[in-house]
Amino acid sequence: MLHKVIIANRGEIALRILRACKELNIKTVAVYSTVDKNLKHVFLADETVCIGNPEPKNSYLNIPAIISAAEVTRSTAIHPGYGFLSENASFAEQVKKSGFIFIGPQASTIKLMGNKINAINTMKKMGIQCILGSSYLSLNNTKKNISIANTIGYPLIIKSVHGGGGQNMYIIYNDKDLISSLEFIKTENKIINNHCSIYIEKYLDNPRHIEIQIIADNYGNVITLYERDCSIQRRHQKIIEEAPVFNINSNLLKNIKNKCIEICIAINYRGVGTFEFLYKDDTLYFIEMNTRIQVEHTVTEMITGVDIVKEQLLIAFGEPLSIKQSDINILGHAIECRINAEDPSNQFIPSAGKINYFHPPGGLGVRWESHIYTGYKVPIYYDSMIGKLICFGENRNIAILRMKNALNELIIDGINTNIKFIYSIIDNNYFQQQGIFNIKYL
Ligand code: ADP
Repeated sequence: MLHKVIIANRGEIALRILRACKELNIKTVAVYSTVDKNLKHVFLADETVCIGNPEPKNSYLNIPAIISAAEVTRSTAIHPGYGFLSENASFAEQVKKSGFIFIGPQASTIKLMGNKINAINTMKKMGIQCILGSSYLSLNNTKKNISIANTIGYPLIIKSVHGGGGQNMYIIYNDKDLISSLEFIKTENKIINNHCSIYIEKYLDNPRHIEIQIIADNYGNVITLYERDCSIQRRHQKIIEEAPVFNINSNLLKNIKNKCIEICIAINYRGVGTFEFLYKDDTLYFIEMNTRIQVEHTVTEMITGVDIVKEQLLIAFGEPLSIKQSDINILGHAIECRINAEDPSNQFIPSAGKINYFHPPGGLGVRWESHIYTGYKVPIYYDSMIGKLICFGENRNIAILRMKNALNELIIDGINTNIKFIYSIIDNNYFQQQGIFNIKYL
């Protein structure tokens, strides 16, 4: 029985998990850093434990502190949310070894699918079209790296095997770029784990980002909750997501969804997960799998009516999926905008400080997921996302109109935000007609 859950995260996702736990009558423990004691979910949790100072490595990435918090509060399970330790196989392993339930897949599955090279190899074996890529690059073997790059062919992109929220990616067009980027990576010590954690992939210019949401229980039942389009990004980071995908051949999407189900069954997948693809010239290329809840799960919830976080908790309880594939219908269209504390007029530098006044939007089909309130102080230590605005409508046009209203109603005073920047994209004719938009043209 999952009677008490540690929420090993912060901000909006911690609040989202807390709400789902409360609906299921599960007790909650908020673990927080010293700068986060005034987070909304910390006020609302049944118990709270301070796990360290604001530096993530001393708190939200501090495995012994989180496991100790589970021990002292006699919790049953740990929900990692997204980011931080959510795709850390060693954490999943240690949670299990310490006698707690990790709310996510098995550690071995995270190792297999949370590592991009392993995931691509697994998918290739299953007959899925993948982005052309290399194995691990050695930073000390320039000759070999040049040979690998030329075999794949420029343009290429250097990426971290473990991902990194769209950061630390380098687009390269020739051998000279390759050498200088690798030098930069080496000198800037950008590699977190070791020198073997980067690889290269064929770079696709301006692709669409399409992803498939799946849920699997412990009994071999797997369903997809359809797909999302997350093509609107800034510096490889998603800022607007929507579901379902439009303007893409429905048979192509249907086939890939069926394949994703087959793969989950084959690898004995458990919990929620997302298969990510780049779409270009009528082809979907697999790039990675996220073995956790994603920021943008909300748009899928809005169009299917399925509470994904609740399902995730129930699966960890050992319950079978409460829904069958045939129960899932698309009810309309949903769009999510990520509201960030940053200054679009000054290179999007993060904006921390006190929110002097906050007013949320409302109305039919409008959902606001956020931990902020009037008087809340945005700390400098964490991701700049402070809220997610989700609008649902019976069709895409209505969702867009509602989003425009909601963005106009949303007031966050005291810090800089990207609200106006987001509005300019939503209001853009090309985005409205095509669903795709390269923000470098804004
Ligand atoms: P992360 O795990 O760090 O978020 P992803 O592999 O999911 O990184 O990629 C994030 C985004 O970066 C993609 O949605 C896409 O816009 C861009 N990207 C990643 N790989 C490629 C590629 N091979 N070609 C072009 N763009 C890419």
